[in-house]
Amino acid sequence: MPLDTSPLLAQLASIVGDAGLITGDAMSPLATDVYRRLEMPLAVVRPQSVEALQALVRATAAAGVALSVRGGGASYTDGYVPRDTGQVLVDLSRLNRIVAINEEDAFVTVEAGVTWAELKAALDARGLRTPFWGPFSGLLATVGGSVSQNSISHGSGAYGISAESVLSVDVVTADGGLLSTGSAAVGSSPFSRHYGPDFTGLFTGDCGALGIKARVTLALQRRRAAHRPISFAFPDFDHLHEAMRLVAFERLDESGFALDGALSQGQIARQDRAGAQLGMALSILRSSPSLASGIVQLGKAALSARRDLGSAPYMVHYIVEGVDDGEVKGRLNRMRELLGPLGREIPGTVPAVVRSMPFAPFYNTLGPVGERWVPVHGVLPHSATKPFDKALAAFLAERSTEMKRLGVWTGTMFSVPNASGFLYEIAIYWPDVITDYHRQVVPADYLEKLPTYPESLEARAYVQQLKTDLAALYGRFGAIHYQIGKAYPYRDRLSDPAGGLLHSLKAHLDPQGRISPGVLGL
Ligand SMILES: Cc1cc2nc3c(=O)[nH]c(=O)nc-3n(C[C@H](O)[C@H](O)[C@H](O)COP(=O)(O)OP(=O)(O)OC[C@H]3O[C@@H](n4cnc5c(N)ncnc54)[C@H](O)[C@@H]3O)c2cc1C
Repeated sequence: MPLDTSPLLAQLASIVGDAGLITGDAMSPLATDVYRRLEMPLAVVRPQSVEALQALVRATAAAGVALSVRGGGASYTDGYVPRDTGQVLVDLSRLNRIVAINEEDAFVTVEAGVTWAELKAALDARGLRTPFWGPFSGLLATVGGSVSQNSISHGSGAYGISAESVLSVDVVTADGGLLSTGSAAVGSSPFSRHYGPDFTGLFTGDCGALGIKARVTLALQRRRAAHRPISFAFPDFDHLHEAMRLVAFERLDESGFALDGALSQGQIARQDRAGAQLGMALSILRSSPSLASGIVQLGKAALSARRDLGSAPYMVHYIVEGVDDGEVKGRLNRMRELLGPLGREIPGTVPAVVRSMPFAPFYNTLGPVGERWVPVHGVLPHSATKPFDKALAAFLAERSTEMKRLGVWTGTMFSVPNASGFLYEIAIYWPDVITDYHRQVVPADYLEKLPTYPESLEARAYVQQLKTDLAALYGRFGAIHYQIGKAYPYRDRLSDPAGGLLHSLKAHLDPQGRISPGVLGL
């Protein structure tokens, strides 16, 4: 860290303007992720153009200062959280222009700080979409952040994770240069990802370790005209897993996810507190294929959603799309054929709500009664998923007394990002004080209805150890991770020559290790 930082701060202010430079306590919510804060940075800078981003990277490089990179800030893996006070945190939320919507060549280029909600609004107006169209956090989560950590959710059943929808990226390297991938690497438009080795793929899922994405180009396609929700309940995990595997194997859904009983119960408590029932009902009506079926859906929801959500050990929720209602019904019938022997169909209230409000306010960053929340995930081969589930049950049983004493509890969420992998996500909750991050992102009227808890350093330390132990458990079953950040081992798990290749790439793009130090274990 330089002894006198004021010349650097003055230089950064001249690049991003006074409004783009934040110092002091105001940095706290930006330097804290959903899970925690490590250290406060030297400053937060918010460039408004790619040129300003390049200029600030050059200025910090000349001063020997490292950078961390924040998109929407909706992650929980320490990825953008500075781990020492000498760093500058680059916040890309003002780099948020939609650069080009090219329907003829089927691509859309955005600056990295565009949120998924902003992109959806721009494309909806033209009847267009990207194949993957955002995580549930898309109200704040950015295209650059999600592509950097292989996000999943909307569109993933049909089109896979965020990385699979990317054609090209423009990346600012550690020396302030701009590197373009795919067809754009030879000066053409970014219409094609594949031209020689897949350079675009080097930067998807890098969590920012290899450079700062300034622009991202995604594939574009027409929206499908018809969709319907469908849900099933299962008596145990094995039946749920088999059902999700079969649906993914035939790529029947547009998107889908499953919850265990603990998380489903939590959703009910949350809706009551948010006073969202009316809003939910109205949005179901708006999202339904027709008003009539919307009313039927509402009636069903009122009568049975509570009973079903409250009682089933496991539930899966799908949105199914088609060019018309006939195609959708054909897919639903095939799902019923496959899933009927494994579980029972229940009203599709939850997926209808998700479809009508795909990017919900950030209620879920806290537990149903205001507890702290951090998810831990792994993507397992299907063949290892049921054995993992049993090992996890034993793992939690061994710790149940201590978890109960500290008020720590877990729930689970599942999805199938592609036919060969199963995403098993464990949400950990514990009683503790909320942070500046929560005060910034959780709607104030919701926050004030929640119980509060005193600081619990003991529960916090227990959760940190639990995360580490769970990552090791995932590793024993061959799991990989999408959102790696600084939270999961990566570099140390790579065998050579892959590990050596990663080091060479980092050394080439960022020889001094100044971009996102610690991310991916680099
Ligand atoms: C309520 C809630 C719901 C969520 N739902 C989902 C979900 O459905 N699916 C899912 O996959 N995840 C989900 N998440 C996790 C997370 O929000 C997403 O993965 C999201 O994609 C993060 O995007 P972001 O812009 O907020 O990234 P950030 O949190 O800002 O950053 C994530 C990582 O990417 C790096 N980064 C950010 N921008 C850039 C850039 N331009 N160039 C290089 N590196 C960059 C950061 O350094 C960091 O390592 C959820 C989180 C919350 C709080």
